[in-house]
This record gives sequence, C-alpha cells and structure tokens, in this order.
Amino acid sequence: PLVKSMEIVEKPSVKYSDIGGLEKQIQELREVVELPLKNPAIFKELGVQPPKGVLLFGPPGTGKTMLAKAVATESNSTFIHVVASEFAQKFVGEGARIVREVFELAKKKAPSIVFIDEIDAIGAKRVDLGTSGEREIQRTLMQLLSELDGFQPLDNVKIIAATNRVDILDPALLRPGRFDRLIEIPLPDLKARKDILQIYIKKMKVRLDNFDIDKIARYTEGFSGADIRNICTEAGYIAIREGRREIYVDDFIKAINRVNENRKKEEYKSR
Ligand code: ATP
Repeated sequence: PLVKSMEIVEKPSVKYSDIGGLEKQIQELREVVELPLKNPAIFKELGVQPPKGVLLFGPPGTGKTMLAKAVATESNSTFIHVVASEFAQKFVGEGARIVREVFELAKKKAPSIVFIDEIDAIGAKRVDLGTSGEREIQRTLMQLLSELDGFQPLDNVKIIAATNRVDILDPALLRPGRFDRLIEIPLPDLKARKDILQIYIKKMKVRLDNFDIDKIARYTEGFSGADIRNICTEAGYIAIREGRREIYVDDFIKAINRVNENRKKEEYKSR
C-alpha cells in the first residue's frame, strides 16, 4: 500500500446475502453503482447519467462499510478503502497527494470502488480557516473535489463515502456531479434485526428448541448490526465459559442484558 491509511482489498468477499435488512438500500446501490460498472453501455445508449459518488449516512455499526464491500464484490471491482480522518492531519500537501494517488490507483485498477469512510473528517463545513491544520484539511478537500470533477460518470470508477454526520458536511461536496446521491442507512427495525440475528445464528451451534428469535429481536431495540453481532459472540463466550458445546437462548438474553446495563451506566455517567 502507498500509505498506512489505505487498505486495498482487491477482491472483497462480502455478499449482499451477508447483510441483514437494508433491502431498499441494496437495491438502490445496485442501480446506481453496480449496474453502471457492469454495463455502462446501457447507460450510454439511453443517455442516462448515473451518479459518480454516493454518500451513505447513518449511525455507526449499521453496515455502511459492509455495503460498499458487497457492491465491490458483486460488481467484480477493486475495492479501495481509505479513512478520511487518517489523512486529514498529515504534513503540508500530503493529504492532497494521497487523494491524488488514490484516484490514480482507482483508474489503474478499474473497474473500482473507492470507499471513503468518515468523510466528515475532511468534508465538514469550515467557518474558520485560522490554523495551518485547518488550511491543510481544506486543501485535501479541494483536491478531492477536483478529482471528483475530473472524471466522467461512466469512467469505471465509483466513489462511495460514509459518515455519521451528514448535517455538518460542506454543501460543496453534495453538489450535482459530486456526492449527489444520499442513501440513509438507519438502525435496523425489528424485521432487520431478526434478519441479522438469523445470519449470525446460522453460523453458530445454537440449541434451537424453544429458541424464539422474534423475542430476541425485540430485546435488541436500538441496537446496530454491529451490536447484534457482538451479542452473538458474547453469547458464544458465555457457553464456552460454562464448558458447554451448545449455545442456549439464555446466553443471548444474558449478553443483551449486559449491553443494556452498560448503556445505562454510560447514560448515567454522561448526565
Ligand atoms: P462505522 O460508521 O462505525 O464505520 P459501519 O456502518 O461502516 O460503521 P460496518 O463496519 O459495516 O458498519 O459494520 C460493522 C460490523 O457489524 C460488520 O462487519 C458486521 O459484522 C456487522 N453488521 C453491521 N450491520 C450489519 C447488517 N446490516 N447485517 C449484518 N451484519 C452487520
């Protein structure tokens, strides 16, 4: 890799079927990212311009990174993963250089998907450009905008960015021809939580008699997909600690209660 913050996954292995819920979001990504990468001819023929960049926004741990990887897998594209916060505070000119190199690489390895996580680290509205650090971040953002403007919607490179804070982004990023397609990735509802549980439980040795997945899903109100995966792992650990060869429904309930208690403590502390 060119820099530490850049992780290149030539061939990610995440599939759409590994993702619980988010059916509409997957459908939309297929239309605006996968299809143009796989079949640009249709778009040319019909004179339709797909977006160059898509912005996924929503709370942490809801599957944004997973979605971006899955789109890359399913469109046979190179996946280039960068975390914006890691090139925000470098030396003068370095952030901009990294952005340039990322796009060069994306073109060389096309079809490719550039995934920019935590885009708010370089893309937040800035009112005060007083410090040199702020000006450096601004230069990095300018370079990103100019790279976005410099290629065509059907150039075999798609940019997917992610943030938890869409409200603080510089509107320049959201203009037509840049990240002009916003897709919300919310916390999972009951049905999605059941789906996610199902995906992880299928891979585990769980005693299924009187296992009421609906009930477990109800208990995890407000949990993200990442939280649910952690619950499953924790339930497994409880069984291991007790020397069992099978995971019981009670292990899941204990794991969930533990998370809920910790949350209450956190809330209490932050009051
Ligand atoms: P962040 O904003 O913290 O970067 P994110 O939205 O990118 O979070 P991911 O990194 O995709 O979230 O999710 C973290 C992990 O949680 C995933 O690797 C996966 O194991 C699990 N996960 C999250 N959402 C889902 C989901 N919808 N279906 C299945 N697993 C999920």
